[in-house]
Amino acid sequence: MDLYEYQARDLFAAHGVPVLPGGVAATSADAGAVAAKLGGKVVVKAQVKTGGRGKAGGVKLADGPDDVARQAEAILGLDIKGHRTRQVLVTEAAPIAAEYYVSFLLDRANRGFLAIASAEGGVEIEQLAAERPDALARVPIDPLTGVSEATATTILRAARFPEEVIDEAAVVLVKLWRAFVAEDATLVEVNPLIRDSGDRIVALDAKVTLDENADYRQPGHAALADGHASDPLEAAAKERDLNYVKLDGQVGVIGNGAGLVMSTLDVVAYTGERFGGVTPANFLDIGGGASAEVMAAGLEVILSDPDVRSVFVNVFGGITACDAVADGIVRAFELLAERGESVKRPLVVRLDGNNADEGRKILDEANLPGVVRVDTMDAAADRAAQLAAGA
Ligand code: GDP
Ligand code: MN
Repeated sequence: MDLYEYQARDLFAAHGVPVLPGGVAATSADAGAVAAKLGGKVVVKAQVKTGGRGKAGGVKLADGPDDVARQAEAILGLDIKGHRTRQVLVTEAAPIAAEYYVSFLLDRANRGFLAIASAEGGVEIEQLAAERPDALARVPIDPLTGVSEATATTILRAARFPEEVIDEAAVVLVKLWRAFVAEDATLVEVNPLIRDSGDRIVALDAKVTLDENADYRQPGHAALADGHASDPLEAAAKERDLNYVKLDGQVGVIGNGAGLVMSTLDVVAYTGERFGGVTPANFLDIGGGASAEVMAAGLEVILSDPDVRSVFVNVFGGITACDAVADGIVRAFELLAERGESVKRPLVVRLDGNNADEGRKILDEANLPGVVRVDTMDAAADRAAQLAAGA
């Protein structure tokens, strides 16, 4: 889960990483009030989960509460790379002497962690990484020993930080590493980490990605979840423990097991070309040991998506027996009918593997409206794409 800057900043502060005083606001009046409390020059920053806010006009210097309210007015509602700005962070403005870049991240390919740092931070970091990759030091971090002041010093020297800031920056880096570990993050990034005119090292921006696999031991992280950021259907699916990802096509895809669902997406997209470019509307994995209840919940999620024009249920029974899946489909139809949301879109069902015959029989006997049974994956995908195209 990605955090907003203001949330990441709070985590930094809790771990002793120096940040500037500030507060978050959802209205221009509140932004003005925060500025009044801070006094002096402030910065107003769009809170969106994407980078490049500065270049998009989402970061503005302001002088005094009235100016802040004016700037906040312009920034609130701003669309930055498809993210609508609902809040602004108002912080004291720092007099910047130099901008640096530091980050720690999970390095999956090398099964370890990685520090990336550069003495040339700021808004042009992507360009720097593309044009002069040598300007970014990449230092692997041993997960067992972590980052001591000595390690931090090695990183900063490799990144060509000026000698006179290395001691203080090393202390900050150690704290940043502690935040990374303590919060179970997969990324902490500071761009820019600045040296101010008084030679203090301060984190001026904060980016944090938390590892959701660690949620069970991070009770505080639930409060950081963002109702706006995730698709409402994805949130509903998550509540039911389903792996659901919204895509932008027309065929709802339900399968058991991530591998089968992924190949189903491929087959639908491939055969969909014959029908004017029909593609999958989602990815929904009901899992290896799916019960009837799970099947019902999955169908309910898919059918709540207005983009779905047909549904392809592709199940290869293993641990999940096909009769349980067929029961689930029947139960889902009953459930939705009870709520007056009868299923109006066609459903193509392919059942194979464990108890396939029993499952097929249940479906045939239930004779559900709009349900088509097709017994091979390719033919079923083709039928689903055809139905989605209205052909
Ligand atoms: P980003 O563009 O989304 O990465 O947003 P940042 O928070 O990194 O801000 C972008 C740029 O705005 C920084 O690189 C700075 O140059 C500038 N900026 C941000 N805060 C301050 C501040 O307190 N004082 C000054 N002078 N510039 C700032
Ligand atoms: Mn930044």
